[in-house]
Amino acid sequence: MALERDFNEVISSLAKKRGFYWGPSPEIYGGSSGFYDLAPLGKLLKNRLENVIRSSFVRSNFWEVECPTVSPQIVWKASGHLDGFSDSITQCTKCDQVYRADNLIEEASDDASLKGLSLDDMTEKIKELKIRCTSCKSELGPVQQYNLMLKTKLGLDQEAYMRPETATTTYLLFKRFLTFFRDQLPVSVFQIGKAYRNEISPRQGMLRLREFTQVEGQIFILEEDEKNWPGFEDIKNNMLPLLTYQEQESGSDKVTMTEMSAAIKKGFFQKPAYAWCVHLAYKIFSGMGFTPDNMRLRQHLPTERAHYAEDAWDVEIHTRSFGWVECCGIHDRGNYDLTRHQEFSKEKMSVKANKQSVVPNVLEIAFGVERPLFCLIDNSYDEDEERSWLKFPPHLAPIQVAVFPLMGKPELLAPSQVIYNEILDSGLVTQFDRGGSIGRRYRRQDEVGTPFCVTVDYESLEDNTVTLRERDSMEQVRVKREVLVEIIHNLVRAKLTFADLTK
Ligand SMILES: [Zn+2]
Repeated sequence: MALERDFNEVISSLAKKRGFYWGPSPEIYGGSSGFYDLAPLGKLLKNRLENVIRSSFVRSNFWEVECPTVSPQIVWKASGHLDGFSDSITQCTKCDQVYRADNLIEEASDDASLKGLSLDDMTEKIKELKIRCTSCKSELGPVQQYNLMLKTKLGLDQEAYMRPETATTTYLLFKRFLTFFRDQLPVSVFQIGKAYRNEISPRQGMLRLREFTQVEGQIFILEEDEKNWPGFEDIKNNMLPLLTYQEQESGSDKVTMTEMSAAIKKGFFQKPAYAWCVHLAYKIFSGMGFTPDNMRLRQHLPTERAHYAEDAWDVEIHTRSFGWVECCGIHDRGNYDLTRHQEFSKEKMSVKANKQSVVPNVLEIAFGVERPLFCLIDNSYDEDEERSWLKFPPHLAPIQVAVFPLMGKPELLAPSQVIYNEILDSGLVTQFDRGGSIGRRYRRQDEVGTPFCVTVDYESLEDNTVTLRERDSMEQVRVKREVLVEIIHNLVRAKLTFADLTK
């Protein structure tokens, strides 16, 4: 896996210069790592990704909710985050620089296995490998547990935490869902909202944030329904690029296109409902513009799984900046969460099934929006001697159409403005640009990924046509004014290709 660090620099400086994201934020005060501002084009792109996500969930029969981002301590005690959601850290005894102990040990030794190491073992290991502070070369202190939740206070003294995931806040509503869904399981709900993780000195820009937008879909389900999931019928012949944990344990990263039904037969997935969730996650990422050759589904090794997970697969996206990037986790959480909340809240979280009282299981699809946003810019970048461009699929491009008068003369400005308003009113994000040569205006739109440009020239005034130009091929075609908006809509929705027009 070749890491093209320079490529990350290309993407980051494009993002800054052209207004996708800025940071670390707040820039005028020096910036705190792990915080970024979405600039105008980044915000448009994020909205588009969220729209794809939202409609994918809704079409799969999920209902959206929104919960508070701050919850009292007991919630996180119950969820296991207070005790389990932590990194092992060590601090320089002289300059107080903090390091993640596992990273230091892994970097210092190729064969160091961290499996099952206690905090004391890790402290020993650091001494043994003679690891010292990288900035001042002094000795490092004992390895400690560091909780990743951001702590806050409610009123004067009630301990509370910013949520490190949306999932837990969704589980707290389980009894309400039962009423809303008239006691019918499975119940499918999702949330899109902010989550917070107090990472130790996050680097990697948009890939590791202390505040990010999380998407989490949850299915509350009984075990018998997990095995007998009608939705699986519809997808059983679809192929997914799977990298199983057995494959990884044999030292390989070979991805095999596997039919869903075969994946069940071979035991890669135990439950059709869980397999269906993995498939849905893959579909959502396809919808966000990722191509099959840049996607894979990787199963977690048993040692990698989070404290709540019975089985876990990730959607990974290949980037030119960082190689494979983990973008989405699909978790079989069992009934861990509801059982814990039943225990701590003393509220009943069970349902009646076959005359027995059962606490349902939870299947989850979880991801942040900023990672796919970064990966999509990374994957979309292209350049040649003449120009650079972002080949976003038209329906995801932040700006979908740009309108130019050939020159800033009143007789061209007025009709251009009318066309601009018409396209804007039709619901597309449109930019009007009258500055600079037409070639430079095309380049500027290419650079931010605008798929189509409309130019109004003197011919337009005579025969009521305009020039429509496509970003990827740079081809141009003359289009009649009265069908322009309809054609652009069909192009954006991929009901028409540009090649159809140039035939
Ligand atoms: Zn130091």
